[in-house]
Amino acid sequence: MRKKHDLPQKTCQSCGLPFTWRKKWSKVWDEVKYCSDRCRSERKRTAPGQP
Ligand SMILES: [Zn+2]
Repeated sequence: MRKKHDLPQKTCQSCGLPFTWRKKWSKVWDEVKYCSDRCRSERKRTAPGQP
């Protein structure tokens, strides 16, 4: 059996949630630190769940 969910994963440096490799990041995956443009723009150091 072959796995279809063996894509690499990282943890978002903003919200702390794990996110999976996407095709749009294929060329910049090593530089990706955030799960979305929203998180990238926020760049908060506050831990998730805090006001
Ligand atoms: Zn995020």
